[in-house]
Amino acid sequence: MKEMVVEMLASRGVRLEQIARIVVELQKPYRPDLTVDECLRSVEKVMEKREVQHAVLTGIALDMLAESGALPEPLLTLVRNDDPLYGIDEILALSITNIYGTVGLTNFGYVDKRKMGVLRGLNSHSSKRVNTFLDDLVAGIAGAAAARIAHRSEAAG
Ligand code: MG
Repeated sequence: MKEMVVEMLASRGVRLEQIARIVVELQKPYRPDLTVDECLRSVEKVMEKREVQHAVLTGIALDMLAESGALPEPLLTLVRNDDPLYGIDEILALSITNIYGTVGLTNFGYVDKRKMGVLRGLNSHSSKRVNTFLDDLVAGIAGAAAARIAHRSEAAG
């Protein structure tokens, strides 16, 4: 299942290494020595969680259905336009960050607001792609992977 979900992300333009780069940025103030490889390992661990896989499968499916016009109205317009009052994309991503507690949540909010790394491209409305769920999922995975590293270094220190 994990491989399938990772492939699904790649087909939507997101590689795990790009998520790892966001994690490096997030952890820079606390762990300036952290490498992309270490962060990639943390992202891989997050991707092994069933809750995460299910959230990604669900969110990307909704993006794809909106892209092909297959969702019923008014949901189609809400998802297609990434309506600011439609917050279910964020709610779904919270199911990822919740696994790692408050640190994951704080990270998620920061990544989402700053539109870090690969998220910038996903949010540019130049493409015909619908990434309403994808951007939050990526922010959620990055936030969770960073929280995982934070918890571990706390335990070690
Ligand atoms: Mg969104």
